[in-house]
Amino acid sequence: MTEHLKSSIVGETIQSWCNVCHRQTEDRVYAVSTTNSAGKPGPCLEHGPKVNAQGETKRQELARKKREQDTANPPLFGDAK
Ligand SMILES: [Zn+2]
Repeated sequence: MTEHLKSSIVGETIQSWCNVCHRQTEDRVYAVSTTNSAGKPGPCLEHGPKVNAQGETKRQELARKKREQDTANPPLFGDAK
């Protein structure tokens, strides 16, 4: 369903149904286009590409943690199987 909202609330967050989360979530309202003053609910803020404090996605964070683990426990010389 396409829902058009007033341009005055563009940039604000509204409660909107998310088909991915299957519940009402916070969505940011964005302008449909620069020539159209209407707004529409933006992507769900809750299931979207979440980034941590370092700006990493979950996948990047896992990759970094793996690297850190490998660095913290380097295979010892002569200890290879
Ligand atoms: Zn969602």
